[in-house]
Amino acid sequence: MADKFIDEFLEKDILLDQSLRPTIFNDFIGQKKIKDRLLLFIKAAQERGECLDHCLFSGPPGLGKTTLAHLISGTMSSNIRITSGPVIERPGDLAGILTNLEEGDVLFIDEIHRLNHIVEEYLYSAMEDYKLDIILDKGPNARSIRLNLPFFTLVGATTRSGLLTSPLRSRFGFINRLNYYSTADLQKIVVRSSRILNVEIDEQGALEIARRSRGTPRIANSLLKRVRDYAQIKADNKINISVADAALNMLDVDQQGLDEMDILILETIIHKFDGGPVGINSLAVAVGEEADTLEEVYEPYLIQQGYIKRTPSGRKTTRAAYKHLNISMPYAQGDNFYQDSLF
Ligand code: ADP
Repeated sequence: MADKFIDEFLEKDILLDQSLRPTIFNDFIGQKKIKDRLLLFIKAAQERGECLDHCLFSGPPGLGKTTLAHLISGTMSSNIRITSGPVIERPGDLAGILTNLEEGDVLFIDEIHRLNHIVEEYLYSAMEDYKLDIILDKGPNARSIRLNLPFFTLVGATTRSGLLTSPLRSRFGFINRLNYYSTADLQKIVVRSSRILNVEIDEQGALEIARRSRGTPRIANSLLKRVRDYAQIKADNKINISVADAALNMLDVDQQGLDEMDILILETIIHKFDGGPVGINSLAVAVGEEADTLEEVYEPYLIQQGYIKRTPSGRKTTRAAYKHLNISMPYAQGDNFYQDSLF
């Protein structure tokens, strides 16, 4: 019974997520430079009757990489095929996907940095010459056949652009790094999503959710959904600043938008590793999370906000982290530690 309830709840949540995803470029808020450039290149390709050059989008999760892939295919009036790096295990899997594409299709490969090297090498000629050389049979009977592929646009997404090999990177005509969103842009996203979710929200309420969303549209939408639940039960389905604040406090999202895991990471570095430096693997064990998740999901925002910094010997907390957690900061002068009385 409980499982059925949870399944139904998750299903509804996924459908809601899909309904919040912008389906036209006009609804895609922020990232102006990327949007302007994309629209220009799409228009040029359309005028020439060609398909768009391959695009790579990098940046932390939830910033709109998948959405942009959908928008490209929508604007080019083409189909989109969606897959991800780890799913394409063998060259045969890739051949299956590529040979099923139609002229002008968009092939979206999420987590493209996790493609294995053999598959990746097959992708090179597919991207560059729209041809695929496949080896049939083994041993003395082995022979290679060349398949012609339709023209297609590969859209790759990665949270770890640094892990992409340079031959793969160089085959993309258009490389974009998505940045965290400004509070003003997130506020617009929250207002748009509230309209779709049919919940009343005032400007200050939307601003409060935006401010505490770690610069990330997906988080803004998911916080909005939970604040909406709170408003439905406790506040007549209306969200203002105090309703948003109370709901976010209940969710353990703090005033700067840091969640329980962010705080745990900062406290662990400070209390267990004397403020660092600590290697990512030790930190991951100490907080009970995968090192990859720390690097891809949590760390970028904490670094961007200046709470931690990466040094050659590991991660260190900064003065801002101590201040945020209201812990006085010891600082090293030679080998002696002094209490910092500056704040
Ligand atoms: P990523 O692929 O980078 O992890 P998604 O494209 O799946 O991120 O975006 C997550 C959700 O955030 C989308 O479903 C959409 O609702 C919302 N979103 C992302 N970017 C924007 C944007 N620029 N404007 C409005 N909503 C956005």
